[in-house]
Amino acid sequence: MTVKAMLPRGFATSAPIVIVGAGAAGFCAALSAHEAGVDVVVLERDSVPRGSTALSAGLIPAAGTRFQKTLCITDSPALFAADIQRKAHGEADAAIVKSVAQEAGPTIEWLADRYGFPFSVVHDFDYPGHSARRMHGLPTRSGVELIDRLRQTADEAEIPLILNATVSALYAGADRIIRGVELTRPDGTRDTLGCQALILACSGYGGAADLVARHIPEMRGASYFGHPGNRGDAVLWGDALGAKLLHMSGYQGHGSVAHPHGVLITWAVIMKGGFQVNTKGVRFSNESAGYSEQAAVVLAQPDGIAFDIFDERIAAIARQFADFREAETCGAVIEASTVALLAERLKLPSSALAQSFAEVEETKRADKEDRFGRSFAGAAPLSPPFKAVKVTGALFHTQGGLAVDEGARALSSQGGGLPNLFAVGGAAAGVSGSLASGYLSGNGLLTATVLGRIAGKGAANFVTQGG
Ligand SMILES: Cc1cc2nc3c(=O)[nH]c(=O)nc-3n(C[C@H](O)[C@H](O)[C@H](O)COP(=O)(O)OP(=O)(O)OC[C@H]3O[C@@H](n4cnc5c(N)ncnc54)[C@H](O)[C@@H]3O)c2cc1C
Repeated sequence: MTVKAMLPRGFATSAPIVIVGAGAAGFCAALSAHEAGVDVVVLERDSVPRGSTALSAGLIPAAGTRFQKTLCITDSPALFAADIQRKAHGEADAAIVKSVAQEAGPTIEWLADRYGFPFSVVHDFDYPGHSARRMHGLPTRSGVELIDRLRQTADEAEIPLILNATVSALYAGADRIIRGVELTRPDGTRDTLGCQALILACSGYGGAADLVARHIPEMRGASYFGHPGNRGDAVLWGDALGAKLLHMSGYQGHGSVAHPHGVLITWAVIMKGGFQVNTKGVRFSNESAGYSEQAAVVLAQPDGIAFDIFDERIAAIARQFADFREAETCGAVIEASTVALLAERLKLPSSALAQSFAEVEETKRADKEDRFGRSFAGAAPLSPPFKAVKVTGALFHTQGGLAVDEGARALSSQGGGLPNLFAVGGAAAGVSGSLASGYLSGNGLLTATVLGRIAGKGAANFVTQGG
């Protein structure tokens, strides 16, 4: 991935705004630039837009929406911003946090009211770190539905989307103004496309094992569960252009991926009163701290394996998620009528599992914190039939990237901004800080959709004001 200083004699064609990547970030940027009346072209490596967006549960956090008000949920952007910053250990850029927390509600309502996205709030369990129920999702609670609706909306707006087009280089002068891009087709042929503003929406570096090993050593060798085409192109270009890269060790992990099936098991199974044990049948952590940091904790257990333990009541809540239904279909969810039978089916030491059960249920009854500092306040006791899933930890999404301002414009490592370069979603440094534990549920699609919308508008302004 290079930045070419030698400009071609002339670009084959050009567009005012070029967007690299057709995930949630790219499409939101494209729709908002198009609404501002500026032509935009989206370039996507794959033959069908999918990205990590399609692999996600498609849940976007937003505060103060009409969907929350219908359910009498009290929330505000200020409360949301405080939750983001608390989870990020105060490391996230305060101005960006304020901006995304403020704009998330209007972004959800924009997609709902202008484009007919049928959002609803996940109202039956709490996500770790969120002090209000504010995760908004589409009916299937799947990212496939989100990306397909975004693509259809962009198609209806007649926004040009060029598929099978890998952006292989940027063209920039010594002034670091981006003049255009080179794109490579699957048969190796190359083309060029000029632009006045460029939006990098080509996500993070989870698909580049060398970058993961360099920046996130604790996830070296871990399974990567995100889109394999996210190979760090944005950060490589940013680095070459002298852009500021931030929080490169930050990431979204997950401590509950069915093994060996490779299906996400929603953290609702834990938050509603379930728990995890290792292959010895023993608990090992405060699971409610967050699923992201739990990835490394699970991977540190013998064989990198844990078991989610819950019951049918919790499974009924988890079934709203397409992933969980898939896990049931593929036989990842084990059921048993007694703890002893469950231990037998999971091949776990029976007495240790019984002791773990007893410890959890006693904590619930006594309404106190357990030895790991976890409170099960409000959680009902587990009752038969019991359920369990063998899980492992995985890397979902990197959180570092190009540092941007509130307008999603890339910042220079020497201070100031790069004139016509924007970065959004996984291409930009998120709001999670430098640690896995800094990831608040939904930070990924938050910065994809909200920063995407902001960048589209900002790039359009830049172009209409004469660049
Ligand atoms: C299993 C899983 C569950 C998740 N669940 C959630 C959730 O519920 N809520 C949440 O907020 N986040 C979730 N996330 C994180 C979320 O998916 C991401 O943060 C988000 O999708 C990033 O969106 P994006 O548009 O930046 O990137 P992507 O959706 O990955 O899109 C990037 C696109 O850029 C393309 N591309 C890359 N390089 C090039 C190039 N050189 N040229 C052309 N195209 C290129 C890729 O092919 C891809 O289509 C989850 C992640 C995973 C893996």
